[in-house]
Amino acid sequence: MAGTIAIKNGYVFDPLNEINGEIMDIFIKDGKVVKDLSAAEMKNAKVIDASGMTVMPGGVDSHSHVAGAKVNAGRMLRPEDHYKANLQKTSLTHSGSGYTVPSVYKQGYDYAAMGYTTVFEAAVPPLEARHTHEEMRTTPLLDMGGYLVLGNNFFLMRYLKEGNTEKAAAYVAWMMKTHKTYGIKCVNPAGVENWGWGKNISSLDEANIHFEITPREVIKGLTEINERLGMPMPVHLHANNLGHPGCYAITKDSLKIPDGVKTRQKMDVEWAETKMDPSRDRSVYLTHLMFNSFAGTTWADCESGVKDIADYINNKDHVVIDSGCTPFGEATVMTGDGPAIHDLYTLTGNKWSNTDVEMEGGSGVIPFTYLKSNPVHSLQWAMGLECLLLINDPWKTILTTDSPNGGPFTKYPEVMTWLMSEAFRKQTFSECHKWANDRSELGGVNRELSLYDLAILTRANPAKTIGMVHRKGSLGVGADGDVTVYNINPQQLDPNNYEALLQTFRKAEYTVKGGEIVAIKGEIVSLPEKRTYYSEVHVEDEREKEMLADVKEWFRYYTLGFANYPTPEKYLANPTPIQVNGER
Ligand SMILES: [Zn+2]
Repeated sequence: MAGTIAIKNGYVFDPLNEINGEIMDIFIKDGKVVKDLSAAEMKNAKVIDASGMTVMPGGVDSHSHVAGAKVNAGRMLRPEDHYKANLQKTSLTHSGSGYTVPSVYKQGYDYAAMGYTTVFEAAVPPLEARHTHEEMRTTPLLDMGGYLVLGNNFFLMRYLKEGNTEKAAAYVAWMMKTHKTYGIKCVNPAGVENWGWGKNISSLDEANIHFEITPREVIKGLTEINERLGMPMPVHLHANNLGHPGCYAITKDSLKIPDGVKTRQKMDVEWAETKMDPSRDRSVYLTHLMFNSFAGTTWADCESGVKDIADYINNKDHVVIDSGCTPFGEATVMTGDGPAIHDLYTLTGNKWSNTDVEMEGGSGVIPFTYLKSNPVHSLQWAMGLECLLLINDPWKTILTTDSPNGGPFTKYPEVMTWLMSEAFRKQTFSECHKWANDRSELGGVNRELSLYDLAILTRANPAKTIGMVHRKGSLGVGADGDVTVYNINPQQLDPNNYEALLQTFRKAEYTVKGGEIVAIKGEIVSLPEKRTYYSEVHVEDEREKEMLADVKEWFRYYTLGFANYPTPEKYLANPTPIQVNGER
């Protein structure tokens, strides 16, 4: 019976159900977690003997760059990235290549080999939504969705400046449906628009050119609209001034803006059983905190500002972050923040690509290598880990490398091991530039994350943060049958033996997706269907009509006709809309 399996006798870590290493059986029937299987069902079920092993829900990556125009620009810009890593075709799987920006097939297999089953694309420019969906549809094995880039959108800047929140909300709702996207992404609010004029924005109250809107107004407007519409996830913020010495101050001030915005997640879904309240309680999800946390005034005197932001987050409950760790080695930096990439280009002189996406946003791409011998890179390594170790409550943190910005997602095993092993951190300190130790607090941290913490950072919290707990991030009855089995016996876990941990995280013993075994020890063994999630947000028809009259009027400035703007459902693999109840 496809999608029916029993995973027996493993040590189960399921934080949303407060299960911390209990020896249990997990049963999945027709792709969903069930309480048990009847004798007849057991006869036909596959059985995994997970004795002495660790069992977690399938990995959930809530921020990764895996599909769309800028990812593909990264592939084209970097043939050298493809010589080094390639994958042969098998009777089941496609060939593929690419280390930091793998081809779509390879990236699906690589994620699954590590135990991940769900990945959300972090930035979809509306005009590139079709392309993004084409690549997501072709990426095997992963359930996916994407966040729509809206922080510098002409229509929204205009509506927000006019104080017309109703139309702005109707626009956001319509855009989610039109492009089949899931949540609001806000990149360098008001600043990317200035990049069209060769400029940026450096303070929260600086108005941009023409629209005369400030980052503060954009952040405030979007976070209020997000809750008015009852969106699954908080506004996903990439703060201003990214990657500049001293940027930690504007980051902290940006986080203060949505403090007091009341969360209102209103989705019409069937929730999987969880012991914890599955609903969202954060009004802002800040991405890649590390890149937004530099203190100091220049690259000569820069130091970590993570402690200051972590102290703020430790005292507040409306913020959740992902880390954007930099695990050393090759990376490809890509973001909707065009001016930030230009600055990196002037710093490195590397080959560089920049795009302006008409009235909707922009982006830049540049290859980058993080070196242990480089003072700033070493500091960044320490800062990324500080993001996850200085914030006390694991339910406020999510593990990412902002793949491939800080490094490819295939480096997650390194990050996981640094978090769990002080000995491994010490080993790395001894190999890298002394700035890592001298200019951060990491050297004084002896916290070591447990497997339970790790399950929060890589499964439960990303799912909870983005409003996917109705299906993902837990092993409660009704959840999708996505499971990772690691060959780790928690009773014998030794953080000092970090080499063993590294090996284990690189290749899950089993990856189960929808109740089917898809990978064994890193080898892909089946390719079940996947899904694409998006938010179908409802607002009153009359509001939508009024707003659309404006949009159609402005469409004469676009390079394509209004009728060709929407992304049809056929671009999606198993389109799975989530009904969001809007203002009703
Ligand atoms: Zn990102």
